[in-house]
Amino acid sequence: MKAVAVFPGKPNSIHLADLPEPSVDDIPDGRGVLVEVSRVGVDGTDKEINDAEYGDAPEGYDFLVTGHESFGRVLEVGPNVQGMQPGDYVVATVRRPGTTIYDQIGTYDMTTDATYFERGINLLHGYLTERYVDDLEYVVRVPAALKEVGVLLEPTSIAEKGVEQAYEIQRRLKVWRPQRAAVVGAGTLGLLATLILRLRGLEVTTLARTEPPTLNSELVEALGARYVSTRRKPLKEAAREYGPFDIIFEATGASLLAFESIEVLGKNGVLVLTGISGGDRMVEIPGDHIMLGFVLGNKVAVGSVNANRTHFEHGVQDMALAEAYYPGWLARLLTHPVQGLDNYEEMIRLLTEEKSAIKVFIER
Ligand code: BGC
Ligand code: ZN
Repeated sequence: MKAVAVFPGKPNSIHLADLPEPSVDDIPDGRGVLVEVSRVGVDGTDKEINDAEYGDAPEGYDFLVTGHESFGRVLEVGPNVQGMQPGDYVVATVRRPGTTIYDQIGTYDMTTDATYFERGINLLHGYLTERYVDDLEYVVRVPAALKEVGVLLEPTSIAEKGVEQAYEIQRRLKVWRPQRAAVVGAGTLGLLATLILRLRGLEVTTLARTEPPTLNSELVEALGARYVSTRRKPLKEAAREYGPFDIIFEATGASLLAFESIEVLGKNGVLVLTGISGGDRMVEIPGDHIMLGFVLGNKVAVGSVNANRTHFEHGVQDMALAEAYYPGWLARLLTHPVQGLDNYEEMIRLLTEEKSAIKVFIER
């Protein structure tokens, strides 16, 4: 069976590999779900994996099959699988449990283990292949009405977790009625965070460098949110005009923006950091000023990575709600389809070079 893989540690080593056919019997206790992959999305993490900045091969392999944003159809289920049947549309989660208490209660996204296992990213093969099998626990059903956009569920789960973390933390305030939010970054994650915050009724300002009009700015505005180019109006100025922000969702990985976000966050506000900054940039910040405002404003900043089954399930609900409020909006994110696993070079090219791409994905 064909698969798209890299040799971890070797830059630009993306190639076609051969994997044995998976079977429902590979999963213990009759809980296997065998899935035919129909689409797989790629993102910055895949780019970093191909650049050999990230990712390790599973035990016994010298390659790692990439792809963690899956969408497919159930082919066969084990004898102890209930509530899922052949023909169902599904998406699989990414991380698999480690050893800590968090892993044991289904919150493997919160693991404190040093090594973590993520399909398509670290130590486990991903979904850029023809078929995969997994335990029922990690396979999430998607209604047929969302089959055109289901490949967006994994990135949606990341935005969902970030927003849920913010609401969970803000229970400290006994009463929290957030009104204004800022989203920093208007790539796939920033757009999906804008959507989720709009679905919760917030006034949202989404900031990105590029000057409008772009598809990204149009998508922000189609949600009734405000798009601000930081070239025209830097974050601080935007906060004076459109803040104070009760919640800021950072989705860029630019560390300077993270510190600026702390500074402009409203009193009692919460900042969610989701951007993964692989570099080792040094930034200069007004440290005393930021710290003073942070303390006097009772502010919170939280980092958020990965997502567990619950976030995927809530992602399905919000995607369905999105189709009701903003019909056709999600599909507009699917800008660059690539036909077939054989075209992995085109996939990487679009991912690294195509500035106008929102979501690049392989279609089988
Ligand atoms: C994935 C997450 C993962 C993170 C770190 C992201 O691209 O979507 O599931 O936890 O990378 O590996
Ligand atoms: Zn990702």
